[in-house]
Amino acid sequence: MYNIAIDGPAGAGKSTIAKQIARRKGYIYVDTGAMYRAMALFLIENQISPEEPDKISEKCREADISIVYENGEQVVLLNGRNVNGLIRTEEVSNMASASSVNGDVRKKLVELQQKLAEKADVVMDGRDIGTCVLPNADLKIYLTASSSVRAKRRYDELAARGEECDIDVIKGDIEERDYRDMHRDISPLKQADDAVLVDSSDMTIEEVIGRILELCAG
Ligand code: C5P
Repeated sequence: MYNIAIDGPAGAGKSTIAKQIARRKGYIYVDTGAMYRAMALFLIENQISPEEPDKISEKCREADISIVYENGEQVVLLNGRNVNGLIRTEEVSNMASASSVNGDVRKKLVELQQKLAEKADVVMDGRDIGTCVLPNADLKIYLTASSSVRAKRRYDELAARGEECDIDVIKGDIEERDYRDMHRDISPLKQADDAVLVDSSDMTIEEVIGRILELCAG
């Protein structure tokens, strides 16, 4: 199996890039953030707050999260229900970042991710793929961009969907999530020693894809 790991902070363009690489190589795209988001939605729906680690550990056992593919698109199922349309809100983003510090949540989702990568050629994106989920990945990319560029991208995405938003609030949220993701005890976001750093601040999507395809070929 050929495994490509793409890690990096929120809004660096990981999912856009990973999807395109997967399509061009004929691999399966695995969006691990969507799994943490589905878990966060489950916790929100069960009125559990990020400040209740014991309850999170207990409740997460009841969440059956799985991934299926429909017309080449990843669909996340939460206890059998398609939740793709519910997991992209700021509320879920913030809860996902807070609940993903929990060891029981991580253990459950990492196992699922490793099983997917055993069965197929994958492009998997997340925070800990190169460092923890797929330490033997064939290619590891650490994709980043400045927080201002990332906030502007997120703002454009939300505005295009007609959601009201404030760019300064988004930038603040992004920086807060980066801090939490990089400083948590278990599997913090960091560049794996053998990952290639790609800073997309001044690159187009096509340039980033071209660079990664070059690295696959090499
Ligand atoms: O990538 P995305 O923004 O959808 O991820 C949502 C949250 O899930 C991140 O802020 C991060 O805290 C968590 N996450 C993680 N490990 C991963 C993927 C996502 O902790 N592999």
